Amino acid sequence: MTALKPSLYDLSLRELTAQTKPAFRAKQIYGWLYHNYAQNFEDMKNIPKSLKEELAQKYLINPMKIVKKELSSDGTIKYLLELQDNKTVEAVWLKMKDEIKDDNGNITQEAKYTICVSTQVGCKVGCTFCLTAKGGFTRDLSAGEIVAQVVTLKNDNNHKHNRMINIVYMGMGEPLDNLTNLAKAIEIFKEEDGLCISGKRQTVSTSGLSTKIDKLGEMDLGVHIAISLHAVDDELRTELIPMNKAHNINSIIEAVKRFPIDTRKRVMFEYLVIKDKNDDLGSAKKLVKLLTGIKAKVNLIYFNPYPGTDYKRPSREDMVAFQEYLVKHGLLCTIRDSKGIDISAACGQLKEKTQEERA
Ligand code: SAH
Ligand code: SF4
Repeated sequence: MTALKPSLYDLSLRELTAQTKPAFRAKQIYGWLYHNYAQNFEDMKNIPKSLKEELAQKYLINPMKIVKKELSSDGTIKYLLELQDNKTVEAVWLKMKDEIKDDNGNITQEAKYTICVSTQVGCKVGCTFCLTAKGGFTRDLSAGEIVAQVVTLKNDNNHKHNRMINIVYMGMGEPLDNLTNLAKAIEIFKEEDGLCISGKRQTVSTSGLSTKIDKLGEMDLGVHIAISLHAVDDELRTELIPMNKAHNINSIIEAVKRFPIDTRKRVMFEYLVIKDKNDDLGSAKKLVKLLTGIKAKVNLIYFNPYPGTDYKRPSREDMVAFQEYLVKHGLLCTIRDSKGIDISAACGQLKEKTQEERA
């Protein structure tokens, strides 16, 4: 495998400070990277040429470039990003709220955005419903490659550094299978002299590696977790997510109970609804029982079909009935609106399409 050149985005401010003299240069460089989204060393006007040359020998700035973009009518933009070794991953720019203007046309509330990032090229978990899993696992992303997705998308959308953004680790890959680099990226996002995105604004979605949920909890990074539950009994869950054999539903629930969460917040349980598999009210009833005693909220996701899968999208009626049952029994529950449904929004689908087109 070709050696990948590290990126400046791999470095915490402390690490960069250790390499720059005098120390204040590191803060200046951080400003160029995360406040101005500088993509070239030449852009860093107030940094001495010698220091820039020294850094340029060891580091790249941005280790990825945009190779494809798909825009949806609802404001969602799906990106295909190419890495140094020509591998590709997806990241998604999601518009969560429209801007609000008063009668005079002044903006009273700015639009709100979330960035969905990938943590691996491919995935080892092998969920039977997931397109990313079909290509197998290639490699982990470095911390810098995770950070680069957010900088690249903010830059591409002219989103100022000090405008709030939420991050969800829900792109390609299993974040907890790449815990070291994930934790490093979370810390770099939190840097006050950088993007300054607090843990509260970052949500790690996991297919449920229970031991790693504990490890993430012990790191006390202040992030939220979302659990991709998808089934209420182990038999179906193992069919959907084979590693459920090693990390069964009970072990996940216990790990969630140990996870440090902000008392005002809830743990999100994602429930992918597949027609005739888990869309019945019997499952809804079991779900209510399973989540008793947990400050939970449930997000129902329509299965998004792709060519070659036998699973089917559930009907809207069944989805709504499922939601109503949960709400009636005291659970907070939303149905994920199919953002970017017209642009192959589910994980792995843009990449797959591009590979077909290239072939
Ligand atoms: N590996 C992590 C995060 C990435 S997957 C996890 O599994 O949680 C992000 C989300 O996309 C998961 O909730 C997953 O269930 C969902 N997903 C995968 N394939 C999908 C499909 N075909 N339709 C709808 N959602 C899908
Ligand atoms: Fe991996 Fe998540 Fe896809 Fe499962 S759903 S294969 S864990 S990316």
